Order: sequence, then C-alpha cells, then structure tokens
Amino acid sequence: MLTSFDPQNVRSLVNGEALTSGSTQPILSPHDSAEVGRLHLADASTASAAVSAAREAQASWAAVPAVQRGAILHKACNLIEARAEELSRIVACEAGKSLKDARGETAGAILCGRFFAGEGQRMFGRTMPSGTPEKSAMTVRQPCGVAALITAANTPAPNFAWKVFPALVCGNSVVLKPAEETPVSADWMARILIGAGIPPGVLNVVHGLGSEVGPVLASHPGVDVISFTGSTRVGRLIAEQAGRELKKVSLELGGKNAFIVCDDADIDKAVHWASLSAFSNAGQRCASGSRFIVMDNVYDDFVNRFVAKAKSLRLGVEDDCDLGPVINLRQLSAMLAALERAKAEGAEVLCGGQRAETAGLGNGFYLNPTLVTNLPPHSHMAQTELFGPIGIIFRVGSFEEAINLANNSPYGLTGAIHTRSWDRAWTFTQRLSAGIAVVNAGTFGSEPHMPFGGLRNSGNGTREPGTEALDIYTELKDIYLITEPERL
Ligand code: NAD
Repeated sequence: MLTSFDPQNVRSLVNGEALTSGSTQPILSPHDSAEVGRLHLADASTASAAVSAAREAQASWAAVPAVQRGAILHKACNLIEARAEELSRIVACEAGKSLKDARGETAGAILCGRFFAGEGQRMFGRTMPSGTPEKSAMTVRQPCGVAALITAANTPAPNFAWKVFPALVCGNSVVLKPAEETPVSADWMARILIGAGIPPGVLNVVHGLGSEVGPVLASHPGVDVISFTGSTRVGRLIAEQAGRELKKVSLELGGKNAFIVCDDADIDKAVHWASLSAFSNAGQRCASGSRFIVMDNVYDDFVNRFVAKAKSLRLGVEDDCDLGPVINLRQLSAMLAALERAKAEGAEVLCGGQRAETAGLGNGFYLNPTLVTNLPPHSHMAQTELFGPIGIIFRVGSFEEAINLANNSPYGLTGAIHTRSWDRAWTFTQRLSAGIAVVNAGTFGSEPHMPFGGLRNSGNGTREPGTEALDIYTELKDIYLITEPERL
C-alpha cells in the first residue's frame, strides 16, 4: 500500500514503499530560493535495492500482454489529465515557471503518454520472406529487462513521460532517477501510474545525487538498458560505465543549435522565433537556439529588432511573463562565468549579461535575456552549451558561409532557417549536420510521435520518443519457422 503523497518530504519509492533517508536536502524554488520541500537522498544501497525490486517484478510484467500494459498506461494518462492542474502547479513551483507554461508541459506529457500507451497495440515486428523453401522468417519485440532512466530538470513532466511510458509499455520494469531539482512531479506521476495499475516493483523511483546513485545504476549488473537525458559531460561518464558492462545505452544530450536568418527572410517572423528559441523556458532546452547566423544584408535590421525584443521580455513566473529563472544557482553562476570569459575574449554584450535584480527577482536564479556578438566561431562560448537565456550572433556574407558556420559545432541536435526560398530551405534541411532541421519556425518543438536526437556530442545515435523508442526499450528476436510438406 502506497503511503500518501507528501510534497514536503519526497522519498524514494522502492517496491511501492517510500523510504525515509537520514540525509535530506532542501528543494528550492528557482524563483525566489524559498524552500518548497525536502528531498530524502537515496544512497547506493537504496539504488541497488530498487534494481533488485525491479528485477524481481519484471518477468510477471513482461507476461502481461502489451495491449493490456498499454491499457494501464492509458488509464494513467486519464488520471493525470483529470488532475492536470495539480501536476502543473507542482511543476511551476519546483521548476520556476509560469502556470501557463507548466500547463502546456503537462499537456505534452499526456500526449506523449497516450502515444506510447497506444504502442501497446502496435509493438510491431516484421515478417520477411526466407531464402529457403518451407521456411518463414519474422521478428518480434521483447522487453530488455530492467530500464534505468535518468532525467534532467528542464521540463520535468514530459521528461518523465518521454522515458517511463515507452519503457513500461515494452514490458520493462523501471528504476527512475529524476533530477534532484524537480523530484516532486516525478513522485506525483509515479504514484499516479502505480495507482492506475502498474505493479509497485515495476516502477521504482530513486531520488539522490546524480554523482552518487547515477554510477550505481549505470554499472549495476541488474540493469539491462539505460536511458539518460542530460549534459554531455555526464552522458560520457554513463557511456563509459555502462560500456564496461556492454549495456544498451541511449543518450539524449546537449545542443548548441544554429538559427540562420537569410536575406530573404520575413524578419518579423524571424525575430519572433529567434526570441522563443533563445529565451523561452529561460533557454533551458537542449533544442534552444543559441547561435544566430545572420546574412549581411539584413544583419542590422534583424539584430536591432532582436535586441529590442530581448530587452522587452518580462521575467518572472506570472502567466504574462516571457521567461523564468534557470534551475539553480550553480547554473546561473556558470553562465555568468562564461560571460566574463567571453568578454575577456572580446565579446560585445548587446543586452543582458547580468543577474536580474529587479523587484521581486533578486533572490531567484534569473539572468537577463542576453545577446552577445563579436565572438569568433571557435571561442569557448560559441562551442559550449550554456543551457540558459544567452544567444550569440554571427554575421555571414552568403548562404554557403551560413551553412558551414551552422555545422561548425561539436553538437548536432537541431537547427532552423528563416528564408522564403524553397531552394535554400530544402538545401538547409539536407546539409544541416543535426538530427532535426526546421524551416521558418524555432529550433525547438518536437512532437511525441517523432524521433528526436542528435549527432556527435548531442547523443549516441538513438532516437526518442516516436516509434523509434521501441528500438531502445525492446530487443528484437528473429524467429524462423520450418514447415514440413510431407506432414500435410
Ligand atoms: P546533468 O547531466 O547535470 O543532470 C541530468 C541528470 O543526470 C540528473 O538527474 C542528475 O542527477 C544526473 N546525474 C548527474 N551526475 C550523474 C552521474 N555521474 N551519473 C549519472 N547521473 C548523473 O544535466 P542538467 O544540467 O540537469 O540538464 C541539462 C542538460 O540536459 C543539458 O545539457 C541539456 O541539453 C540536456 N537535455 C537534453 C535533452 C535531449 O533530449 N537531448 C533534453 C533535455 C535536456
């Protein structure tokens, strides 16, 4: 029997039991640093116990037909929808966003959950002809076993749905390690899923410091597949640890995404989408636009309007605000340090560049929307993801130069172009070295039925969500059937 939800005391859930820990830390509102709850930090032994519980429960969950697993997940989506406002308020509080944005994320999480619940009715394999007479060939999908899922804090509800729903519908049991900053929504959602009929040992949640429980999950012999959303630095560590055990790993990592403005672009639209790409969710999206590559002829016009737009944005967590704080002080300090380094390298800060100190925001982790120029493409800031509201603007003389600069990055997640030319648009989609290419909109905006992922430092080649996520959470098995005509 589950103990009741207590946002003031968020504890790990292992086999349906909430585990109190002697070690706790405050959950801080990024908006004003107020303590909104306490997180009980799991240690290595709790992480191991969660893996054992998941192992124990997995076989009977795998024996439930995928269609029925999907039906339970559909029920969970209905329950989340019925209480969507509650989840949105939790997310708004722990992640420091407006209720309007949190509501949008809750809707996105439900959409993603429903898509994967429906995959229970599809879960396709393939039938293929055999080269041998009287032989049939096909593939079926089987669960991997225990899935360890590690998530980031930027959009906590969709991040949960993006991994937990596909892992479960495929018949895996789960150990989820949510970001330390946003544990309350993960606890709430896990309880809803268990309430909908997911057996307790099938969905376990381990709250703890990533550096402490993460390596346990990444290297545990009882874990069969690891799916991670977070920084490239941690992704590398996980790949190393999991690689030693030859575990299946999916890494959804960072981006330094290019946004090209051509000289034939609709500049009003380009400014609108540039601002959303750089500053919505305080720039805390792997798919944020952070390198703005602008053609000479429209450079002054675009930059003047983009800077004016950035200066006009309202900071805060009310519904009419444009951006909120970043998730924690460490993140804010890292951005301020990167800005100092960029200035030392000759960067010109066109707007922002400092912590927001205006009324009511001084205790929050707010950075004024920042645009920087005069940086060489190989500079630290141009090559490093900052995960905050900072954009760098480059001037280019031609379409060719724009494409080359867009591709000059250790990352390869998304990119956008603004142009009225079909030829430029299509050529961009073909030549951009990234997993996602967008024409005349923002660098972000993935859909749950579409595969998302990137190249180089942005990931390890897997794609989530979409049907492609089934490739992560299932193992394909070939089946050959031989018929014997003489027995007919
Ligand atoms: P982070 O890597 O610091 O943390 C992400 C998660 O990893 C957290 O749950 C954290 O506790 C855990 N973690 C930390 N150290 C660990 C370790 N040694 N072993 C295992 N787990 C560990 O990332 P962050 O700063 O919280 O999140 C921002 C990053 O996430 C950005 O780089 C962003 O681009 C990326 N991101 C990527 C996607 C995508 O789909 N590609 C989506 C959202 C965010």
